[in-house]
Amino acid sequence: MLAEIVAVGDELLYGDIINGNAAWLGRQLADVGIRVATSVVVGDDVEMIERALRAAAGRADVVIVSGGLGPTQDDLTREGIAAAAGVALRRDEFLESLLRRRFTELRRDVPAMNYRQADLPEGAEPLPNGPGTAPGIRIEIGRAALYALPGVPHELYAMFTASVLPDLLRRAGQPSVVVHRVLRTAGIWESSVAEALSGEVDRLRDVGNPTIAFLASEGQTRVRVTARAGDRAEALRLIAPVETAARAALGPAVYGVDDETLAGVVGAWLATLGATVAVAESLTGGRLAAALTETPGASTYFRGGAVVYATDTKASVLGVDAEILATDGAVSARAAAALAAGARDLFGATWGLATTGVAGPDEQEGKPVGTLHLGLAGPDGTTTRSLRLPGDRPRIQTFAVVQALDVLRR
Ligand code: ATP
Ligand code: MG
Repeated sequence: MLAEIVAVGDELLYGDIINGNAAWLGRQLADVGIRVATSVVVGDDVEMIERALRAAAGRADVVIVSGGLGPTQDDLTREGIAAAAGVALRRDEFLESLLRRRFTELRRDVPAMNYRQADLPEGAEPLPNGPGTAPGIRIEIGRAALYALPGVPHELYAMFTASVLPDLLRRAGQPSVVVHRVLRTAGIWESSVAEALSGEVDRLRDVGNPTIAFLASEGQTRVRVTARAGDRAEALRLIAPVETAARAALGPAVYGVDDETLAGVVGAWLATLGATVAVAESLTGGRLAAALTETPGASTYFRGGAVVYATDTKASVLGVDAEILATDGAVSARAAAALAAGARDLFGATWGLATTGVAGPDEQEGKPVGTLHLGLAGPDGTTTRSLRLPGDRPRIQTFAVVQALDVLRR
């Protein structure tokens, strides 16, 4: 089965927004073994949309269209589909009544413009959307099935998953329930994750179901296992041995699953122990404290933090020895250890956690961009971790937060 993605919108052409919908759709389709042969972007122009859809429907079995279904004059996907299918647009009574009901709930009259959202090309059926939003469109053009979805990402994701994907799998004659299991890792590079799991990946490549994918972002790597089956229980049974093998290969690098966050997992772990943490931040400039306070209830384990950015404040606020700053420098493992101990004392926490390093773009104290020293002070003394991070300033700061949380959790 061959798929083609058509994303509609001038803002995509002009670079105002990135075509995240195509990326997301591509991944979903690849996950279930549907090959995306072509992905195009077309502006808000009926004739251009018509041509793109006609070409796509001539090449592919499935065409997924993103965007241009709203009520405004620049939303022209409906017209483009009708033209490509060679049919007229008809106002759909059922959609019209839905629209009226939605606006009645908002205690407003339906703006004249919004009635366009009740128009459907002849022969098309509406794809249900969540409450309060416009439906998508499903229509056959030649031998291709075309699905048009709203551009707003969370609506597109929900509708694709609920309505489009089951339909596609039925058409492809594949089991229609798709279940993902995500293992989240930190403190390990993507290449090392892939290497650790290479045996499992090779094995699954031959089997074809489940599939395994590596997704790296923000200094972390996710391992996503996707299974297709007749029902959810069967999919989970397929996933279980792969998860077990992956956990065995990755060991403590796996910190959580699915939607869990590193800060959330670390916080829950501290709360269970009845332990607290305080931070001393130089390189991360407050991002570590921000991450630790993301989760509700953070006050049970987060005591506070000091952003000691200028070198002299490391001494004046957290009592780092002038001798350390003079000999090793502010960017050093010894400074990180002293900062962690200082934060632990100042805030009366079980653990003190410190970041110091060089975010760039220029080197500092003769130390290269990406240098990171982490300090962890606890009841049994102080440890440090030193490493070199890749990337530019924002990436280095993000990576540093992940590495710091990882040091705390181990
Ligand atoms: P609406 O009813 O909101 O007008 P629509 O179906 O007409 O929905 P668009 O107007 O094309 O969709 O896009 C709505 C918003 O969704 C855009 O402002 C943009 O933020 C986001 N969006 C649109 N297309 C994409 C895309 N391909 N990738 C990521 N985001 C997108
Ligand atoms: Mg719009």
